[in-house]
Amino acid sequence: MSEHIEAVANELRKARSIAVLTGSGVSAESGIPTFRDALTGLWSKFRPEELATVAAFERDPKMVWEWYEWRRDKVRNAQPNPAHHALASLQDRYKQFTLITQNVDGLHQQAGSRDVIELHGNIMRSKCIAENIVRDDFDAAGTPPRCPACGAHMRPDVVWFGESLPEDALRKSTKAAHDCEVFMSIGTSALVYPAAELPYIASAQGRLVIEINLEPTPLSISAHYSLFGKAGEILPQLIRAAFDL
Ligand code: NAD
Repeated sequence: MSEHIEAVANELRKARSIAVLTGSGVSAESGIPTFRDALTGLWSKFRPEELATVAAFERDPKMVWEWYEWRRDKVRNAQPNPAHHALASLQDRYKQFTLITQNVDGLHQQAGSRDVIELHGNIMRSKCIAENIVRDDFDAAGTPPRCPACGAHMRPDVVWFGESLPEDALRKSTKAAHDCEVFMSIGTSALVYPAAELPYIASAQGRLVIEINLEPTPLSISAHYSLFGKAGEILPQLIRAAFDL
């Protein structure tokens, strides 16, 4: 492992342009459950795929809103961990640094990362289900609250299963994966498309692909380096090794 850390650190030192894709594993050490962890505890009898859909919200808006309230509560009580801080410290070291996240918790921004591309939205924002407009002037008492303008339900401003990703975010991410020298995929199961496509876009251009995860994923066979362990431990090690910190 330490040999791989040295090799990857060397690549990070040489590169001028980096794109990073993060998934829920990066926030796991902040105490926010990944979708796999979400199968334990209060909501264990539900699968995220059955709650995070338009159909589920239409069927039982109260239940879906309460699930998001539970998740928002975890986010409100969470702090960025060393993985978020390590990524934030990288941004000024490169000519081009693009941080793309599937996370909806805003912890990268809290750690100081700028211009984060949120592929799946943010659960702390809400939008009117009828007008598709993000608002913060609604009365939070309802479950779910109502839009102050039209009376329709408010919903979290996230991408649900079956919905399209925000076009601009996907276009910028694809361009970053295409143009970077090094692509890092961190704490993601590499299963949820189209985000999971991004490392392959980089690899098809001959870019170096590095993965950090607790365990092998479908990307592992294609990645040039797979570093297995906690993102909150491996990223700070890499940065220390790359930049003599
Ligand atoms: P996922 O739950 O499918 O996969 C998480 C991955 O992280 C797994 O491969 C796991 O092995 C790895 N992992 C867990 N702890 C880790 C650690 N400490 N260090 C490194 N790796 C670790 O999550 P995903 O790939 O992000 O995709 C699923 C969807 O989940 C996304 O759409 C995302 O929006 C949503 N989601 C987001 C959050 C959040 O915002 N924090 C939380 C749950 C789910």
